[in-house]
Amino acid sequence: MKDSQIFNINELSNYLTSKKVEPELKADIFKGVKSNSMALKLTDHIVRLINWDNLIADPIRKQFLPLGSEYQPSHPQSKVDSLSEEKKQVRPGLIHRYPNKILFLLGTFCPTYCAFCTRSYAVGPNTKTLAKSYLTKSQTGKTDTLIDYLKTNVNINDVVLSGGDLLSVQPLIIDKLLAKLVTIKSLRSVRLATRGLLFDPNLFLPNTPLFEIITRYSEKFKQHNMELSIQCHFNHATEISSESQKAALSLYQSGVTIRNQTVLLDGVNSTIELQKNLIEKLISSGIQPYYVYQMDMVANAEHFRTNLETCISISKNLTGAFAGFQLPRFIVDLPLGGGKRSVYEYEFYDQKYGIYGFKSPIISGEKIYYYCDPLRYLEPHVQKEWHGKISVSELYD
Ligand SMILES: *Cc1c(COP(=O)(O)O)cnc(C)c1O
Ligand code: SF4
Repeated sequence: MKDSQIFNINELSNYLTSKKVEPELKADIFKGVKSNSMALKLTDHIVRLINWDNLIADPIRKQFLPLGSEYQPSHPQSKVDSLSEEKKQVRPGLIHRYPNKILFLLGTFCPTYCAFCTRSYAVGPNTKTLAKSYLTKSQTGKTDTLIDYLKTNVNINDVVLSGGDLLSVQPLIIDKLLAKLVTIKSLRSVRLATRGLLFDPNLFLPNTPLFEIITRYSEKFKQHNMELSIQCHFNHATEISSESQKAALSLYQSGVTIRNQTVLLDGVNSTIELQKNLIEKLISSGIQPYYVYQMDMVANAEHFRTNLETCISISKNLTGAFAGFQLPRFIVDLPLGGGKRSVYEYEFYDQKYGIYGFKSPIISGEKIYYYCDPLRYLEPHVQKEWHGKISVSELYD
């Protein structure tokens, strides 16, 4: 049954009317669609997961249909491409940040768009607020680029295939790419990053093309002493529907490793209890909790960010609650391309301005990268000082 997907504003309007959403809330939702950097698109499965009777509090609605009234001004240091991915591409769609691992963008479309997407600079169609990078969009997915690069850079042993979502790529293309990757002797691991287990879990069930491809190559990779794994993205326990659980367990029982990445989102999953519930649900679905990300400093998504202390505190309170290998690592992906660090690894914390300084020796020696808390956590007079500052160092002059 596909009749409740929502792909445009008219379909949204009709759906809201059919659910008897009151006009004021409806207007706030439309305002949210206009403010969003990401396009409006909800799969049938997501529409059915949203609690339309309690829209304001619903953690799934918050991620895909933010309200206009929820938006807050971006932090002066936030950027559309907060991780400087586009600037740092070594080939179109190829980000080589760490010595031995790379990230390749397979495409720039997703079945549903997350309003806090780190790759908002390139993912999805243009929106009223954001014109997407044409360069990155038009150049991603050229898989020969990836294969050539791997052949000439034999120190790389790990590839993350991301995007955009895996589901926006034809299964046949994935099949052909994996057939090539499995022959590259220097590779140890290939990871398929997808939010598809949430957006459209039925596409991962036994007897589907994707299930067949993933399980077949998972076996083949193992025979070559390599690993093919899935990196999924669930942020809240209610996202793991019975269908998602069934799909994940089927893959798990066929020998496929699935690891989950969560983004810490204010009001969605920003408490100890919610993270604990999520971890329990992941484990019972055959999924390993891998990372919990401090939300990146993405422009136009400020209301999703917590301060770093929230992330550290949740982490501290969960240590010891699960077997060590089931406990996710709490990390921050440093602005401007410093890479991922444990949230505990900062060199200094300036409480007044809400600035954390991190080093990233593997990437750039002694250079300091700054992560800044949202201004709403700071004293009003400090918030004023921040305004108009274009670099962290200006604050200290
Ligand atoms: C996240 C990321 C990876 C993979 O990092 P892990 O910490 O090994 O999961 C690789 N390359 C880039 C550019 C990344 O952002
Ligand atoms: S699925 Fe991933 S790439 Fe797609 S919009 Fe969501 S966060 Fe961005």
